[in-house]
Parts: sequence; C-alpha cells; structure tokens
Amino acid sequence: MKRESGPPPAEARPRSPEPGGPAGTPGGPVRRGPLVIVYLLLAGALLLALHEYSRPGQERTWTLSWDRFTGLVAEEPSPVAWVEVGPEWMIGELKAPRALPVLVGEGKTRDEQVTRFQVARLPGDEELLAKELTARGILVVGRSGEGWGRLLVVWGLSAVLFVGGLFLVMRLFSPSRQVMSFGKSRARVYAERETKVGFGDVAGIEEAKEELQEVVQFLRDPRPYQRVGARIPRGVLLVGPPGTGKTLLARAVAGEASVTFFSMSGSDFVEMFAGVGASRVRDLFEQASKHAPCIVFIDELDALGKVRGVGLSGAHDEREQTLNQLLSEMDGFDPEKGVVILAATNRPEILDPALLRPGRFDRQVVVDRPDVKGREQILRIHAQKVRLSPQVDLAQVAKETPGLVGADLANVVNEAALLAGRKRQEQVEPGDFREAIQRHLVGLERKSRIMSPGEKERIAVHETGHALTALSVPHADPVSRVSIIARGAGALGYTMQMPAEDRHLYSRGELEDRLAVLLGGRGAELLIYGDPSTGASDDLARATELARRMVLEFGMSPLGPLSYGGPRQRYLASPDGGGERREYSEETARLVDEQVAALVRAAEERVTRLLQEREAALRAVAGALVTREVILAEELTALAREHGAPP
Ligand code: ADP
Ligand code: ZN
Ligand code: MG
Repeated sequence: MKRESGPPPAEARPRSPEPGGPAGTPGGPVRRGPLVIVYLLLAGALLLALHEYSRPGQERTWTLSWDRFTGLVAEEPSPVAWVEVGPEWMIGELKAPRALPVLVGEGKTRDEQVTRFQVARLPGDEELLAKELTARGILVVGRSGEGWGRLLVVWGLSAVLFVGGLFLVMRLFSPSRQVMSFGKSRARVYAERETKVGFGDVAGIEEAKEELQEVVQFLRDPRPYQRVGARIPRGVLLVGPPGTGKTLLARAVAGEASVTFFSMSGSDFVEMFAGVGASRVRDLFEQASKHAPCIVFIDELDALGKVRGVGLSGAHDEREQTLNQLLSEMDGFDPEKGVVILAATNRPEILDPALLRPGRFDRQVVVDRPDVKGREQILRIHAQKVRLSPQVDLAQVAKETPGLVGADLANVVNEAALLAGRKRQEQVEPGDFREAIQRHLVGLERKSRIMSPGEKERIAVHETGHALTALSVPHADPVSRVSIIARGAGALGYTMQMPAEDRHLYSRGELEDRLAVLLGGRGAELLIYGDPSTGASDDLARATELARRMVLEFGMSPLGPLSYGGPRQRYLASPDGGGERREYSEETARLVDEQVAALVRAAEERVTRLLQEREAALRAVAGALVTREVILAEELTALAREHGAPP
C-alpha cells in the first residue's frame, strides 16, 4: 500500500505532459468548420441559380435556316410566339413544338422537335423583320448586344464567389491572431510576435531567470556586447524535470525582450518521410534570420538530438539527417544577427555530444524543482486568477507540497477553485486547497470502493505499521495522517508524512529510518497475521531501490566509499532508467546485491522488534482506523502513548 511522503532523495514521479504547451495551437479550423459548410451551401445555391439564369430556357435551342424561318413567319396563323432580335442572331419560340429540319453544321439538316430556335440574321433584313413580324402579331423583343449584360452578371458573380472562397481557405489554413505559420512545415512552426509572458509570470526558478537575463539584455540591445566583442552564447539549453517551467521561461525571455518567438517541438521534426525534418529545420532558421532579433525555441530537444548511430530503422536515419541539418544551421549562423536559440530537455544525458559543443548549446541552465519559497511564489502567481478567501495561507500550502513542480501547483490551484465552484462557494477556502493537494498527491478519493471487512482490517494494520514506525524512529518525517480510504488506482490506504523542511541531504541514519518506515507496513502484517500480503509490493520496491542507491551511490555499505556509477543527475533521468550503465565487475555486482539485501534485512529486523514492543498500540490504532478510516497526527500520538508505546 502506497505511502506518501516528502520527496525521497530522488524520485521520478511520472508527470502529465505540460498543459498549454508552446505557442498557440491553431484552434481555428475546428471552430470555423460550420462556417465553411454554410459558405459551401450558399455558394452552391448561388451558382445553381446563376446557371439557371444564364440559360435562356429549359428547351434546347435549335438553329433554323433563314428560309425555314420566313416560311414559319408567313404561315397563317403564324406558329411563332415571339422573336427576340439581336445584332447577329434572332432567338424565338414556337407556340407549340413541331417537327422541323434543323441545321446541325456543314449545311446538313436533321428533323427535331423544335420549340425554341435561333436564326442567323442577314444583312438588310431589318425591313422584313419590322414589317412582317409585327404585321403578323409576332411579339418582337429588342435585345442589346448578345446578352452581354447577362454574361457580365454571371461571370462577375462567379468571380466574386471564387475569390471569396479562396480568401476563406487562406484564412483557415493560417493559424489565428498573431500566430502565423509558414511553408512546407504544415503549420508546425509557430511564431508569436508577442508572447505576452514575462519574467513576472515565472517564479521559483530565480537562478535560471538570472542566467537568462543576459540573453534578454542582448536581444534588447546587442550593441554594448558587440562593442566589447563579447560573444553571446548561440544556444542555451534549459535542463530540468517536466513541468518546472522550461517552456514558460523560454516564452518569458521572448516577452521580456519583446522579440518574435519561434517555437517547434523536437518531436515535430522527426517525421517518417525522409527529408521533411531537415527541410523544417532549414525553414525554421530561414524564417528566424528574416525576423531577427528573435528567439528560436526547440522544445523536447532529446526527441531530435538522441545520440546518433543507434538502431537501423528509417526513422533513425531520418532523425540523424534532421540533427545534422540542425547542427550545420547552428554553425552557419551569425550570432551578431541577434538570433538566440533556446532548447529544453529533461534528459540531457541522452543528447548527442555534438549538440553540446562550443558554438552550439554550450550553455546549460538548470531549471530545478522549486523550494518552499519558490512554491509559494508560484502559488501566488496562479492564485491571482482565483478568488481566495483571506483564510487561505499559501505559505502553508507551499509547505504541504514538497516535490511538486510549477505545473503541479498550477493544477492544485485550479483544482481547489473547481472544488469551490462545485460547492457554489463565493471564494476558495483552505479546505478546498487541502482536498486539492490530496487529490493531486494520491489520486481521487474513492469512498465508494467496496472492501471486505477483513481486507479493511489488514489495510488498517498495514498503514498503522508504517505510522507507528515513523513515530518511533528518530529521524522520520512527522506523520500528518493515516487513512484507509482508497484513493485512485493502486493505493489502498496511505500514511502521509510531512517533512518539516525541504531536504537536500540525508545522513545514513536518516535513510535507514526511511527504510524501516517503508517496511513497517509489511512488518505489522507479519506480526498480527503471521503472513505478508501483496499489499506491500510497492513498499518493497521502494525500499530495495533506496537500499541499492545507498550501496551504489552513497557509499553507505561495507563496500566502502566508492561510487559504482550511479546514474548521474538521477532526477533528470527517465523513469525507465535511460542512460544507466553498469560500471563494475560481475564480482562486484554480486557483492552489491548482498549488501543491498543486508540493508533491507537489517531494517526488517529492526521493524519487527520495534513493532513487537508496540503491539498493543498497533492493535488499538488499527482498530480505531477501521471504524474511523482517517486518523490525524495528534490522535495518533495520543492513542499510541495511551497503549504504552515507548516514544
Ligand atoms: P516544462 O516545459 O518545464 O515541462 P511548462 O513551462 O510547460 O513546463 O509548465 C507548464 C505550466 O505550469 C506553465 O504553463 C505554468 O502555468 C506552470 N508553471 C510551471 N513552472 C512554473 C513556474 N516556475 N512559475 C509559474 N508557473 C509555472
Ligand atoms: Zn505500505
Ligand atoms: Mg515544456
């Protein structure tokens, strides 16, 4: 059963990908969808109408010879209903359809049912027309030219429709507002004229901000630097765990310097189609040099800059090509121009060394998890957007959230506001924050989960084991609450410990205490039931991991003060342990395993002894936990003391 506590020396907690990533994803096409449909319908209807209008009538118009026409006119009574006279042609209609020979080209004729007809005019036929037609009661309709007016209307409107459509399409495929995209990149490169984010929106990473201050100064006015011949780093790599604000910081630099912000994600470059990635890189730098001074930001550089020469698949080749293009673009870049390249990664250890050479990303800025002060400032920034009750103490919230990064804290504030909104409150109250933190730390509370009484009791014993151990060892973080309410998936119960302060160093004694607390749950189960359960698997995994690091990295075993190649900068390593390498012999490996086992066994013995001495308290607290489900710190201590647990 899961235990929650402050940050162990290093813990890779999977985090959700950052919300509100880089510059505006073009939300346009989605919202404009209905508009397109309406436009298409309207345009279609209009064109149909125009088509109707441009066609003089439904029937086909047949061509008659002059003498056939005059013959018709001369008949008594004339079958011709009306005639429209143009400068070159006459068009007319018969009162009723009639079979007539019509001209079908080259002087040939064919019999057709004719209603509508046309006749070519002859020179000097005006007299005949005027006289004969009117005399026989045939309606003569004058016509100006060959229907130019009508043609003009049709063509004009069609042109207007076409241009309108073109305009609409162009608007659709260019992202909204100040965000523009370009070229073959299919809207994957974003440029923001103003990011509207400044250093004021970033907190808790003061050192990183200070380091980037120089970049801002340079972009604002490069002359003082150029005058003394100072070389501004061409590329700055922001390194840190996910959610600490790397993307935010990059945008803030652009905002502070008020320059254009070009951004692209490393994974965008990596395409299945050969050459696309490389051409995107070229595109990006071409655009950037046109818009200098500006910032080019490459997020998730590791997706692109992995060490080359691994794997044989096409995707790798493609990535390599893209990476080479990036390297050559960076080399060919004139830093005087005022283009600064920023990149972000949470896995610097897997980057191709070529990227880190001088003249490329030769400066690294660490963006680390915020400390308690930083967390408070970050909370303040995000709390500006919500209505806080005066009772809320953000400093206290910061104390209760060790290990959380900026993205988590933004999430906590929002979660608290959501809870307040759901309860129709006027303001966000301290209780909302408490619940939001717990939700964030251990997942959603699931009171509805059905547990058998026996299971519930076992979980209570297990969690009490953790809690009592924590209470009894000298260096454990104080327990703030013990609960057997299931939260999220996986965690059946939990013991929450609050470190009194942010920790950076741990002594051997402290780590041994931590080991004991981790094993306390299983120890209690063994003591009460005589056999362990599967509920301890997570505890065991964490204990073993901790013991291994004590042996391998911290020199806290009889193997002596040697570092056996523990992963460097572990907090940045991927959860799957990417970049780890074993740097010791088989023989040593066996010894290491022995020492790890010895550490864990010693902790187990210690816990067993400790809990045996406190069995009465263990039973009492577990019993209370079964009925009450949650027990807070003071009560826990009181109950333990009451039942004779030595402090
Ligand atoms: P990263 O790129 O390091 O993974 P992001 O910059 O994408 O993290 O952070 C995600 C969001 O979390 C930001 O948009 C911001 O709302 C919040 N955030 C993260 N770090 C900070 C910080 N240091 N100060 C203020 N807000 C932060
Ligand atoms: Zn446990
Ligand atoms: Mg990011």
